[in-house]
Amino acid sequence: MKITFLGTGTSQGVPIINCDCQVCSSLDFRDKRLRCSVHIETEDTHIIIDTGPDFRQQVLRERIPDLDAVLLTHEHKDHIAGLDDIRGYNFSLNKSIDVFGRDQVIERLKIEFPYAFEGNYVGKPKINTHTLNGKPFHIGNTKVVPIDGLHGEMPCFGFRINDFTYITDMNQLPETEWPKIAGSKILVLNALHHQPHYSHFTLKEALELAKNLGVKETYFTHMSHHMGLHSSVNAGLPMGINLAYDGLKLHL
Ligand SMILES: [Zn+2]
Ligand SMILES: [Zn+2]
Ligand SMILES: [Zn+2]
Repeated sequence: MKITFLGTGTSQGVPIINCDCQVCSSLDFRDKRLRCSVHIETEDTHIIIDTGPDFRQQVLRERIPDLDAVLLTHEHKDHIAGLDDIRGYNFSLNKSIDVFGRDQVIERLKIEFPYAFEGNYVGKPKINTHTLNGKPFHIGNTKVVPIDGLHGEMPCFGFRINDFTYITDMNQLPETEWPKIAGSKILVLNALHHQPHYSHFTLKEALELAKNLGVKETYFTHMSHHMGLHSSVNAGLPMGINLAYDGLKLHL
């Protein structure tokens, strides 16, 4: 299984428009963060979690040749805005793409992309939506386990795919969900920055949760420019915990 971080930034991305802080001005490629997304290639499937506004640029950069399914964590714009560009795969591979999300996410797609759900316009994105009820499901032979948390007041799904668990945009992960993560070899958690936030884990909260979950290899994502320079923040993290960066590839 191969995992590629397509984007690791918070909703505005990093750098932020009109900001000249040291992170936004940094020349380190690891301080340039597109909106959050990850590509997972298993033996028989290509899966992408979230299609934010940078989706097209991300799949072009990583030359992702195929796509079977999109898993949507929640309906915020920075996680769904790029779904229209799924057309690139519809046209080149001559197939529809399966899109999975909870009821309120699928309903949101109907508002954001009404043309994808009506008529027979040839240029429309071709998606097959699947409503998740929280139960595990399969994409090809690959098992996916939804993990249910809260993003402020909004429900948000994390996903476990084999021994890889990806959790973004949460600030609460009930202990009842922890057994679903147990035994994962790689864990991704969102960590926005240092100051408390109503809908995201801070770095300190993410570190505490990572310790409690006990996964040996943990990466943080969905970072804002207030997190600080990648090189200096990463150097101060405990062993086995790292900040992710755009383009980072992991093998499992
Ligand atoms: Zn987000
Ligand atoms: Zn900045
Ligand atoms: Zn969000």
